[in-house]
Amino acid sequence: MHLSEKPLIPEAVIQERVNELAKEVSHDFAGHDLLVVSVLKGAMIFAADFVRRLDLKAKLEFARVKSYVGTESSGKLDFMHLPEEPITGKYVLLVEDILDTGRTAAALRAHFEAEQPARLAFCTLLDKPATRVVPVTAEYVGFSVEDRFVVGYGLDCDEHYRHLPDIWTLEPDEETPSN
Ligand code: 5GP
Ligand code: MG
Repeated sequence: MHLSEKPLIPEAVIQERVNELAKEVSHDFAGHDLLVVSVLKGAMIFAADFVRRLDLKAKLEFARVKSYVGTESSGKLDFMHLPEEPITGKYVLLVEDILDTGRTAAALRAHFEAEQPARLAFCTLLDKPATRVVPVTAEYVGFSVEDRFVVGYGLDCDEHYRHLPDIWTLEPDEETPSN
């Protein structure tokens, strides 16, 4: 696999959209302290840019989940790390890198809603609505993308490409004839 010739979403376009999302969230949660929960590792670059543009009192926490690849249909998630800050009664914003099947988002939502926050909203940088299996939506979406595997700006392929400032698609390598 190799990177596409040009970025799918260039850095400047990402940054402009992150500005808009932060403005929207700041408006919607005005007057409240916000507890931002960034989902590791993929959302960390997005969350870092996003929180610095919030016009609110905010705290930053992290959650780390691991999905069981072998039992994909069960949608079971292992919570490797959860926020230290109590969720109950708080205004919570979950920040994710990408919504694909929706299994991760649904499990996160269920987990945090059980702790009875005052309000819970979901913010995802990218959304792939075509591949949804579990019906879940995000209140805040950066960009809707087609069903292509994307990397960069926090998103990885085997831990590579997270550091890239733009978002790229990964393309399969051309097969070269052997004779
Ligand atoms: P879901 O539970 O919605 O199927 O999956 C969400 C997770 O799958 C994301 O947090 C991300 O780690 C991974 N994922 C889904 N689509 C992509 C993609 O196109 N690129 C990368 N790098 N990760 C993806
Ligand atoms: Mg990932």
